[in-house]
Amino acid sequence: MIKTVGYAATSATSPLSLFNFERREVGPTDVLVDILYCGVCHSDLHTNRNEWGGSTVYPAVTGHEMIGRVKAIGNQVTKFKVGDMAGVGCMYDSCRTCASCRAGEEQYCDVGGTIFSYNSPDKHTGGVTYGGYSTLTVCDEAFTLKVSPKLDPAAASPLLCAGITTYSPLSHWGVGKGQKVGIVGLGGLGHMGLKFAHAFGAETVLFTTSPGKAADAKRLGADTVVISKDASDMAKHTGSFDFILNTVSASHNLDAYLQLLKRDGTMCMVGVPEHPHPSPFVGNLIFRRRALAGSLIGGIKETQEMLDFCAEHNIVSDIEVIPMQDINKAYERMLKSDVKYRFVIDMASLKSEAVKAA
Ligand code: NAP
Ligand code: ZN
Ligand code: ZN
Repeated sequence: MIKTVGYAATSATSPLSLFNFERREVGPTDVLVDILYCGVCHSDLHTNRNEWGGSTVYPAVTGHEMIGRVKAIGNQVTKFKVGDMAGVGCMYDSCRTCASCRAGEEQYCDVGGTIFSYNSPDKHTGGVTYGGYSTLTVCDEAFTLKVSPKLDPAAASPLLCAGITTYSPLSHWGVGKGQKVGIVGLGGLGHMGLKFAHAFGAETVLFTTSPGKAADAKRLGADTVVISKDASDMAKHTGSFDFILNTVSASHNLDAYLQLLKRDGTMCMVGVPEHPHPSPFVGNLIFRRRALAGSLIGGIKETQEMLDFCAEHNIVSDIEVIPMQDINKAYERMLKSDVKYRFVIDMASLKSEAVKAA
């Protein structure tokens, strides 16, 4: 087993703190990654605070936006060599045989076999999987992503979740030139959604509750910014959107957005709030045959496609790099929507804390 140091929550109310654990030995098809950076997703916070129906197993080591250098490889690994830059995102594995897995949609594994990178059953250790708030990880090469040296590793780390979670629905619903697209919420996911919708050629509108983010939204790719609390500003856009991507992390009124869709328009939800949204008014759906949909991260093939698209188009996240020790403060700021626009942990800070503690 490989000694690893992480930051873990030990209960829903305890701050994250130093935690020693072990990764499995590197198997024939495994890659050992020395984690350099890990982005901070709101899903990490939801999980650490047990906000999703009591499903969290403690201690919990979250983090699913990992980028680092390959430190060792198994003897059958062909995609990587030692020293390469590699990414590990939201999944470590899946059943690999069902129709969804064969279609490259492992996140929707038909038999519930998706092994998420934290809080999932870990067949190797018998416990649960541990994510990227840690010094090292071991992942099968089939679920390890290649990261172009053209991309800054810190700024590219959020692509592994915030990037693919927005890229996938925008591609699935064919967002592009000639369409009007809305992004709701300017946080980690929202700012990547803006960049992609803009790069795909759509007319892009950002909905925010934070008037102070308007100038940034324009810089990030919004053609128009709407303050969602301003009913008259919202009303100007009634019936005009082809597609809306809703990234909000808290419960809110969906009707305010559904009525902005055109006939046959779709609003896709990616935010997973602790408390349910009030049920939307069915009239808003049936009168214009509108759809309310959802989307979960993206498959490995599409994640690689997204990373390659970002390298080609020079797209990364706007980040604030923090030491591991500031994670609890970062969570408090995230809850106040005070993130510009993704926190990324510099894992050197954890490595030096571990050395001092040893
Ligand atoms: P984040 O950085 O905290 O951004 C969320 C944004 O939502 C905030 O910046 C804020 O934007 C807006 N917001 C927050 N509270 C609000 C409220 N009460 N009313 C209206 N707007 C509010 O979070 P994130 O990391 O982007 O994650 C967003 C959500 O997606 C989380 O629930 C997360 O768990 C989920 N998620 C889902 C997937 C998936 O596969 N479906 C993947 C990753 C994350 P403004 O300040 O602009 O209003
Ligand atoms: Zn995430
Ligand atoms: Zn499967």
